[in-house]
Amino acid sequence: MPRLLFSTMYVAYVVHAEANAILNKNAASVKGARLYVGLFPCNECAKLIIQSGIIEVVYASDKYKASVPFIASRKLLALAGVKTRQHSTKVSRLTLTAPDDADAAAVGSSTGGAAATGAASL
Ligand SMILES: [Zn+2]
Repeated sequence: MPRLLFSTMYVAYVVHAEANAILNKNAASVKGARLYVGLFPCNECAKLIIQSGIIEVVYASDKYKASVPFIASRKLLALAGVKTRQHSTKVSRLTLTAPDDADAAAVGSSTGGAAATGAASL
């Protein structure tokens, strides 16, 4: 097996969060949905976003905006009419505490089983 540089390995084996969210959604369709992501999507994910019918992307960081895949992504999303915006908040710090199993069962029974998640997804 040839030796691969870390960056090559990353590209070859990683599924981007956007693709993972679209492919593993908990709904029949994401058409009309809003996608929350940590980083502005790359061009490959932009194509998936457009084809899936997502109408808005909310991102936290656009730190690669000067690189070609992200310039292309921005153009693709704009041409397709997918709205993009950077998330902003006035909250400077957020702490989540996971309950132990007994607390989780009590919360689940008193709130009808609703739970909050911290993952960025659809
Ligand atoms: Zn991507």
